[in-house]
Amino acid sequence: MRFVADIMLGKLAKWLRVLGFDTLYCSFNPISPIVPMAQRGRIPLTRQKKLISLLEGGVFVQYNNVGDQLDQLKKALPLETCHARCFSRCIRCNVILMDVSEEAAQDNVPEYVFYKDMKSIRFCPGCGRYFWPGTHKIRMEKQLNLWGFKECAPKPD
Ligand SMILES: [Zn+2]
Repeated sequence: MRFVADIMLGKLAKWLRVLGFDTLYCSFNPISPIVPMAQRGRIPLTRQKKLISLLEGGVFVQYNNVGDQLDQLKKALPLETCHARCFSRCIRCNVILMDVSEEAAQDNVPEYVFYKDMKSIRFCPGCGRYFWPGTHKIRMEKQLNLWGFKECAPKPD
């Protein structure tokens, strides 16, 4: 399931990426580039009611709060999430994160991260950033849990 979110849905786009969904984020004005995207299977998400009749299969997002927005999508679509897909995509670029070689990791992440958890380090080929589990990720997992995405929480040891 892939999405294109309008300019008013930046937070929703970010959280859909956290959940692992391929989500483009762009202005629907002018609307013309969005129509072919929708025809190629991207579900348009918009806060602009006047556009929804122009967007086949589009979802008019009713709420301002991102938790409510995700809840609406869960009810409107077969939004299938799984543990493996959560945190697999760059939040900024929408690109799938890659494993890194030991050498690249050693050169690009703090030493304590490298020695603690080398296998969990990921790299974004889009923006060149390195990612590893930390407090930011724990906060996001807690938030997803609150929203009912229990599958994104770490597996119990
Ligand atoms: Zn990136």
